[in-house]
Amino acid sequence: MSLIVQKFGGSSVKDAQRMRNVAGIIAETYLQGNDVLVVLSAQGDTTDDLIAKAEEINPHASKREMDMLLSTGEQVSVALCAMALEAMGLPCVSLAAWQVDIQSTGVHSDARIKRIGTERIQSELDQHRIVLVTGFQGVDRNGDVTTLGRGGSDTSAVALAAAFRADLCQIYTDVDGVYTADPRIVPNARKLDEISYDEMLELASQGAQVLHNRSVELAKKFRVNLEVVSSLERKPGTKVKEVTKVEKTNIAGVAKDTSIAQIALVGLQHDPGVAFQVFDLLSKHDINVDVILQSIGREDTKDITFTVHKKDLAETERILTEHKESLKFEHIETNEKMGKVSIVGAGLMSNCGVAAKMFEALYEAGINIQMINTSEIRVSVLLDEADVNKAVRAVHAKFFDEA
Ligand code: ADP
Ligand code: ASP
Ligand code: MG
Repeated sequence: MSLIVQKFGGSSVKDAQRMRNVAGIIAETYLQGNDVLVVLSAQGDTTDDLIAKAEEINPHASKREMDMLLSTGEQVSVALCAMALEAMGLPCVSLAAWQVDIQSTGVHSDARIKRIGTERIQSELDQHRIVLVTGFQGVDRNGDVTTLGRGGSDTSAVALAAAFRADLCQIYTDVDGVYTADPRIVPNARKLDEISYDEMLELASQGAQVLHNRSVELAKKFRVNLEVVSSLERKPGTKVKEVTKVEKTNIAGVAKDTSIAQIALVGLQHDPGVAFQVFDLLSKHDINVDVILQSIGREDTKDITFTVHKKDLAETERILTEHKESLKFEHIETNEKMGKVSIVGAGLMSNCGVAAKMFEALYEAGINIQMINTSEIRVSVLLDEADVNKAVRAVHAKFFDEA
């Protein structure tokens, strides 16, 4: 007998018909003799709708109360799915994160799972029940619900798969696998049969929302057998694993991210410790900084330009302005209409022609690059948000259509 973790995303459970479809997939897996641990996201646009409701009441609601609100969406899903399984005569139980004992850090809206108590789920599985768990959430040391960041149900699923040493973790979604680019933007993107953890982690971190980046991080760390599959069609999906067949093309895919804001601190003193002061301050406020560029300004000053998530822009600006005197900068410039396009591929950096090819594609499309950032297996360019989709298409065509 195998233990299979199955996670279904919002579009897969958006209404009664889709919920019954999902119950059918779960039932089939269970009736084949497997133990089944199910993780669900909130139905359809529920999470966005809840955010809109909160904004109507208080646009500056605390993150704690936002988490209290957003975590309800997943509870609705697991209860409804359990009802669908009950209607099919199958033994099941739905559980919220606090009942399962999913322990998380206290960083509201961006928590991490620290530990999962296995007792309750194990006892339910031992009684041959299908167990349905709310994704996207944990409980911190004060007993408060914290959410894991948008798209975080994937991470709940992989964390459970790791905690129970599941034989397989299937992420069911509205696409039939991981593609060389978002098929909604590049209709002729190609489906990958398999992709390495490292490449998938970079793609996810650079905006390919098909998997939450921390889910891939955990899958790699605990060697979880991970698969992305469609809940709507029965076909083989994409396997995410340690080593993959070497593809002829040298990149795995193109990703985009439009959640980027740029901040420039202009006229900082050109002294040691300035960058430390700036980024230490932001890290103490749990603000994640992505691309950083330092340039020499006029006379004895320097400018530091960096990017943060759009949702953190106002807070970052507020914190820096509050510390203007101690940081000693002249002024702040911000731009919240930024985007990032990345190419990812193992072995990319050992082949510098690849980066040139990307820049050529952008040049031919008449797109201006603002900043460039690279890792061992990735090249990213920052550009105007308005150019992002055009850039993804141009870069994808360069690597995949001309191959
Ligand atoms: P779910 O609700 O199931 O979690 P998501 O909307 O979070 O689904 O993720 C699935 C979506 O990810 C797809 O509909 C697709 O538009 C998008 N996507 C972005 N990049 C990729 C990619 N490289 N391959 C497949 N899908 C991608
Ligand atoms: N419901 C949450 C969201 O919309 C979590 C998820 O879908 O994974 O972000
Ligand atoms: Mg998702």
